[in-house]
Amino acid sequence: MEENKFTKLINAIVNLFTRQDLKDHISSLEKEINKKKLDIIDLKQVHEEKVKYCSKLQSEISEKNLKIEQITSKKDEYLNLYNAEKVKYSEAMRENSILQKKIEELEKEDQIEEEEYIVYTVKKGDTLIKIALTYGTTYQSIAQLNNIKSPYTIEIGQKLKIIQKKITDLVQSPISASHYKTSPYGWRTHPIYGDKRFHYGLDLGTNSRKVNCYAIADGVVTAAKSASDGNGAGNRVYVRIKVEGHEYYIMYWHLDSYSVKAGQTVKKGDKIGVVGKTGTSTGIHLHFGIQDSSTWNTSKYFNPETFFSKYGVTFR
Ligand SMILES: [Zn+2]
Repeated sequence: MEENKFTKLINAIVNLFTRQDLKDHISSLEKEINKKKLDIIDLKQVHEEKVKYCSKLQSEISEKNLKIEQITSKKDEYLNLYNAEKVKYSEAMRENSILQKKIEELEKEDQIEEEEYIVYTVKKGDTLIKIALTYGTTYQSIAQLNNIKSPYTIEIGQKLKIIQKKITDLVQSPISASHYKTSPYGWRTHPIYGDKRFHYGLDLGTNSRKVNCYAIADGVVTAAKSASDGNGAGNRVYVRIKVEGHEYYIMYWHLDSYSVKAGQTVKKGDKIGVVGKTGTSTGIHLHFGIQDSSTWNTSKYFNPETFFSKYGVTFR
């Protein structure tokens, strides 16, 4: 019995303790539950934020999709425009290359024309016929070329294009080295005598250098005379030439020396002598005279420049 009581007491105490344990256990569980509840609230908040963020992203995506759709729908339109522009560009390039070719052709023609034309400045007393005769052409040709209508009026200073009759290989300049015109054909005050005299030739200076002079065309030397006879022409050579069936009498005056003799045949370009200042001369130059006849006659003299220009030889 004693033993039973004791057991009962023990059991009661054990139960008491156990219940306290349970109570404690329950209380800690409750605490835990409360904590989880708080966690759940926190998580809910986080979840809501994430949902908000997702919906924001979703709307952004929708917006971008819309834009992509818009761009895609316009892509074909732009592509068509681009292709049209490309076609236009290649057409323009093709036209450009055609134009470029035309320009090159015109420039070539222009060059040829420039080579064929000479430009003449109209002087006092000129008429189209007079100019035409000088250059071996016709007044109709000059009028047509320069768009001059009947009655063919021209003005002093007017520039005329003239197609020169080119037979340059028939005649050459008497001097090939550097030279310049010192006195033209015509009236002048004589450099030594000081009076007005007619200058029956063309003076070509050579910068005081003694250079060769040549036969201007095929011909025969009719005279080669020394300055020792006191003639104002100094050492001088006369050559009879025939150009286009017509005979001319050519004179080379004031030579330093000459290398041909009377009766000798010369070919165009053969050396006649060396330019000098023998006779009545103030400096080294060639006095070049030309007569429109094989016989000596001062009335038959004419301007050498007119003669030369017909054959494409000009002097500066
Ligand atoms: Zn002279």
